[in-house]
Amino acid sequence: MRVIAIINQKGGVGKTTTAVNVAAALARDGQHVLLVDLDPQAHASIHFGIEIGAEEISAYDVLTRDMALADAARRVTERFVLVPSHIDLVGAELELAERPQRETVLARKLAAYQDGFDVCLIDCAPSLGLLTVNALAAAEEIIIPLQPHFLALQGLGRLLQTVTLVRQALNPRLRVSGVVLCMHERGTKLAQEVQDDVARFLARAAPGDAWFGARVFATTIRRNIKLAECPSFGQTVFDYAPSSHGAEDYAALAREILALAAPAASPQDTSADLSTSAAVPAADAAPA
Ligand code: ADP
Ligand code: MG
Repeated sequence: MRVIAIINQKGGVGKTTTAVNVAAALARDGQHVLLVDLDPQAHASIHFGIEIGAEEISAYDVLTRDMALADAARRVTERFVLVPSHIDLVGAELELAERPQRETVLARKLAAYQDGFDVCLIDCAPSLGLLTVNALAAAEEIIIPLQPHFLALQGLGRLLQTVTLVRQALNPRLRVSGVVLCMHERGTKLAQEVQDDVARFLARAAPGDAWFGARVFATTIRRNIKLAECPSFGQTVFDYAPSSHGAEDYAALAREILALAAPAASPQDTSADLSTSAAVPAADAAPA
């Protein structure tokens, strides 16, 4: 099972929209998909019309109690299963703070719940806290949604520093698959500049870096009102507006993701040294 974390500590960049619609597109393509909603705001769950009460089992119980992912999982369609979130998840970071192996709770629970799934997507909260670290410890791939405005690259250095630390300490297989530009205004100078900046930054990666080989996905997600409307109907864009640009773009992105071979761990990956993280802040300084 490929495990892909959708992360960016900024809110409103398109993480949830990407997680939900890529998950739906992959399931439509015949993949068996698991989506774990790891954001206390539970936007991905709400997107499917699943709003659960505190008494029901959610990702919160999986992380903080003796509950399995299977206990929380809900089948949305034949090939698509959701592990919903609940606002209680806010408290998980504090509750876990004193526990041993608190960073790898999700990784261990996921290892026990692989059966039958081809892909697992994790929709992360807009932070680099313990919840996101749990996602990074469980994943082997990272996709970073980015909104191409002039501060787009700000924060990317910090994000990659966190990725590097998790890779060194917990999960040597972890690597960045790519950056996807969301709410993209094709044809504008600014969007093109941001795209070029990101591509240039990624191309400078050294073989030991977690983002070595990462790409800016050729598919960009255009700004499309249908994508913003569909959550309030509890539908993915494929059900809500199947012939929209939003559906077209997410179907294309899912095909691109599917075409990437699952990354194999290579011995040099484990030896990322401190010079790696020293190089990271350069991203923050990059003109955007
Ligand atoms: P995040 O999960 O990173 O906070 P969301 O996916 O929730 O971001 O997106 C933030 C807001 O922008 C939501 O209201 C969402 O519906 C909207 N949105 C996301 N992608 C697009 C897009 N391509 N076109 C128009 N609206 C979008
Ligand atoms: Mg979100």
